[in-house]
Amino acid sequence: MALIVQKFGGTSVASTDRIKSVAKRVARWKAQGHDMIVVPSAMSGETNRLIALAREISALPDPRELDVIASTGEQVTIGLLSMALKEEGVKAKSYTGAQVRVLTDDTFTKARILRIDDEKIRRDIADGYVVVVAGFQGVDENGNITTLGRGGSDTSAVALAAALKADECQIYTDVDGVYTTDPRVEPDARKLDTITFEEMLEMASLGSKVLQIRSVEFAGKYKVKLRVLSSFQNEGEGTLITVEEDRPMEQPIISGIAFNRDEAKLTILGIPDRPSVAYQLLGPIADANIDVDMIIQNVANDETADFSFTVNRGDYTRAMDILEGAVDRLGARGVLGDNRICKVSAVGVGMRSHPGIASKMFSALGREGINIKMISTSEIKISVVVDEKYLELAVRVLHKAFGLDKAE
Ligand code: ASP
Ligand code: MG
Repeated sequence: MALIVQKFGGTSVASTDRIKSVAKRVARWKAQGHDMIVVPSAMSGETNRLIALAREISALPDPRELDVIASTGEQVTIGLLSMALKEEGVKAKSYTGAQVRVLTDDTFTKARILRIDDEKIRRDIADGYVVVVAGFQGVDENGNITTLGRGGSDTSAVALAAALKADECQIYTDVDGVYTTDPRVEPDARKLDTITFEEMLEMASLGSKVLQIRSVEFAGKYKVKLRVLSSFQNEGEGTLITVEEDRPMEQPIISGIAFNRDEAKLTILGIPDRPSVAYQLLGPIADANIDVDMIIQNVANDETADFSFTVNRGDYTRAMDILEGAVDRLGARGVLGDNRICKVSAVGVGMRSHPGIASKMFSALGREGINIKMISTSEIKISVVVDEKYLELAVRVLHKAFGLDKAE
């Protein structure tokens, strides 16, 4: 017998029929003797609808009131799900975030959880109830309702699992797990049985469609066993997100190929190579709240340097304006930009103990005539920037080169 937290996403509770099937699934787990905490999202589309309503009244809705409104979607589904469980003959009780007391800070619309009072939940579980807790919401110390940011019910579920020391936190969604890459780009992509927290964070560009990234960080920090599963299938173990030590022994070196289309590259040419130029260049970019990803500096014989970095494509024009402004100030030769690039990464904790991954990656791309424009590495990731037109090809070539394709 275990204590399990199950979270159901918006599509899993999109209609009363679907809520009934969620209740049936929860009832089966309960019948097997498990203690259950269930965290539903709002019905799919509902949070968007509520926010749109608020915007009809006010172009810039008051954040406190916006949270009062946006949090109601989950209040509906906890009540409906508890009723559906009772129809299945299961004792169930619903709580809003404030009723549990999911205490958060007071950053409306993106609050952070500070503490969860577990007293009522523990008492109800001891009395044989399935406890249904509203995702996405909490309450600050002054009793104001808060919400945790879009997709926040994943984080609610993980935080409840951490607070109650649950044996597993299961995230039911409309995909059946985390894949080696996006199956729309590579039809041979495979579902992973396990992936580490670190890899999952590095695969954010793929993983964030599955889980709110904050929930993965949270689960990693508190060592919550996190599993992603499909709510539309009755079989399958989904993907277990785990700490490295708990991975099965025989794992491929590379777990997946991640990519990001929304990248842009900027270069400033021929800046005098002297201390603090990097700061003078990137300081104003940071001040404008623009995130910089890869950075490369080449030093030429004439003691000038070319300096390139990448930003989110949406920030390209603003970053370009700032760079152009810096040309005269720094005595540079000029600027170049390219906003038709993408980033492709091989991710795997196995590369820590296996040298030669980078050269394998570069040779695979070279054989296809794909030119690499920038490279960056971390302990468990190698990323390259290539022309956007090569994205699909690069992903498929690397997926194959690292043996990730489905077995024939
Ligand atoms: N209902 C909220 C949203 O749509 C929270 C969630 O679904 O995780 O963002
Ligand atoms: Mg979600």
